[in-house]
Amino acid sequence: MREPRTLQQAVVYFSDPQRCFEYAVQLRWLGGNVTCPRCAQAKHSFIKTRRLWFCYVCKKQFTLKIGTVMEDSPIALDKWMAAFWVIANCKNGISSHELGRMLGVHQESAWFMLHRIREAMKGGLMLKMGGSGGPIEVDETHIGPKPQKMHREKRLQMHNERQERTAVVMGLLDRESRQVRAKVIPNVKRETLQSEILNQVGKGSTVYTDGAPAYDNLAARDYVHETVNHIEEYVRGQVHTQGIENFWSLLKRGLRGTYVAVEPFHLDRYLDEQVFRFNNRATKGNPLNDADRFALVMSQVGGKRLTYNQLTGKTGPTPHQPSAGAGQEAF
Ligand SMILES: [Zn+2]
Repeated sequence: MREPRTLQQAVVYFSDPQRCFEYAVQLRWLGGNVTCPRCAQAKHSFIKTRRLWFCYVCKKQFTLKIGTVMEDSPIALDKWMAAFWVIANCKNGISSHELGRMLGVHQESAWFMLHRIREAMKGGLMLKMGGSGGPIEVDETHIGPKPQKMHREKRLQMHNERQERTAVVMGLLDRESRQVRAKVIPNVKRETLQSEILNQVGKGSTVYTDGAPAYDNLAARDYVHETVNHIEEYVRGQVHTQGIENFWSLLKRGLRGTYVAVEPFHLDRYLDEQVFRFNNRATKGNPLNDADRFALVMSQVGGKRLTYNQLTGKTGPTPHQPSAGAGQEAF
């Protein structure tokens, strides 16, 4: 059977447990070169009937899921694989309700799966952007509940709460590589924004921002700084921030369409998901398809773990049901 190219083919392909397992091994350990998740050695024997390995160094068994975001999950591998496929490729994301229905698992389980997959989507150590002279667009945006959708009294009542629940996200786009980075920042003060730029962007790069005073004096920090004034002009030749603004609109479309409530605590994970899809979208120079994005996220499952307590910021024994709230997509 040919390797799947579409979701429908993937579901059929993964429905055979052995085929699904073998395929997952190939992706989790590049080319199927299985190493122990504890000691990274390849001295092991495979117990075929139980689909697990015995490490001769650690003298312990390990499975495909151990040492990955799927560790300790009772959800079957075929459902995990389908979930990876969908999340890597759904442009606007998928809610835990939709995913739960699609896979035939509880919404709470799907919610936990979604977060674990976002953990796998997270990029590793990153080099500074620009450097070679490629221009970098920098911008911030506010993410929070939409007041116009509420009744007047509710809106007033929500006002203070809203202030607390509104998060600021900073985004940087390398216009040459078309790669974006985004993270939640505590405020839009000069120090916060500029130290992010210093950490993320190589000296000497051209940086495009809006005219916010918080970006003043970037030129004094060895950047070529150009600003765009959104009121008087929209685009002045190459001086614009439309690339990062395009990312914001994708991000917000996903948030509006898929998620009912935004919990700032989980916003970084949602950003990881959107950044993954944005940075791995098909371009002229890099014609990635759905199967490629799926393989990429599967190749990043190892060496990462997200427990329920880490996810909810709680301590103590892992409860069975995440407290996502009735009908609310807390992410
Ligand atoms: Zn070992």
